[in-house]
Amino acid sequence: MEKTKHNFYNLTLSELESVVAEYGHKAFRARQLFQWIYAHKVTDLDKMTNLSKDFKQDIPNIFNFEMPDLLTEKVSTDGTRKYLFSVGPGLSFETVMIPAGDRNTLCVSSEVGCNMACKFCFTAKQKLKKRLTASEIVGQFIKVQNMLPKDIQLTNIVFMGMGEPLDNPEGVFSSIKILTSELGVNLSRKKITVSTSGLVDKIPLVTESGARLAVSLNGADNQTRDRVMPINKKWNIEALLQACLDYTNATKDKVTFEYVLLKDVTDRPEDAKKLIQLARKIPCKINIIPFNEHPNSGFERPSESSIDRFQKVLMNNNIHVLRRKTMGRDIYAACGQLNSVYKNNESTQTRAN
Ligand code: SF4
Repeated sequence: MEKTKHNFYNLTLSELESVVAEYGHKAFRARQLFQWIYAHKVTDLDKMTNLSKDFKQDIPNIFNFEMPDLLTEKVSTDGTRKYLFSVGPGLSFETVMIPAGDRNTLCVSSEVGCNMACKFCFTAKQKLKKRLTASEIVGQFIKVQNMLPKDIQLTNIVFMGMGEPLDNPEGVFSSIKILTSELGVNLSRKKITVSTSGLVDKIPLVTESGARLAVSLNGADNQTRDRVMPINKKWNIEALLQACLDYTNATKDKVTFEYVLLKDVTDRPEDAKKLIQLARKIPCKINIIPFNEHPNSGFERPSESSIDRFQKVLMNNNIHVLRRKTMGRDIYAACGQLNSVYKNNESTQTRAN
């Protein structure tokens, strides 16, 4: 019986070595192939000069090289690029590239849809349809890098696109291993951030992976957080903070708390006070994100003056706080706006691939 082919982009280097060994080839052949594809960006087998004839002939029997299909690319006036990918009928998702000086961050999706039901989130309108495999996550990186002009190199990855990354640990942590392998893309683990809505029991996996941890906090007490983040009913703020403290103790890194400012829900003076108390307990920085409105969300963006006031109160109390600049708002690529419903009436460049 014919063996099923392995998707090359699903495999970490050690898995690749085991697979080629199963087919009777030496482990170093796996390393050579891995280097050609990820480090030298060569996919044409004829150009892989150091591979043996036997191994080259066998490669198409062992592997397929499938990645998600790129459907569209949109470029915002601020340089943000949004990509719509598909992994099958009805299974599309988005990836966003955010330029900022020397840093080009790729915001990747880990799932199609999401079950976490965070109340402010546009993605949450689509229930979970699929957890993306490592190849579907690695594929976002490779395809976007190949599409970008030669002088733009991706430098950072944030798992803040569609989906809850810790609801898909297999795909997410395999893709991190693949993209950080020294023989391949060789991205620093510290340039990868995994953001969770608060799946407390999976936070130790982030610690183990060496990636940075971000937590979508969006409420500084249990009552507010219960309202905005349903996951809080399973793991409350106290449990979440303990897991964050375990992370900071083990890694000596700070945790980043993402805090969406929702008018009259999370932007009140008492919210700022509670957030300050919370931030004093744990090495952290806080990213405040003014809500990006989308149809039927039921929430409003606070006024500029109240956003400023909130930020100043935190700063005056020596809390490390940053206001996240809104990027790609004109193409619905801003935080909390991702959804795979394709809109063609936006004033942006659109490129079908
Ligand atoms: S904010 Fe993240 S975890 Fe929450 S529903 Fe949206 S995609 Fe899911």
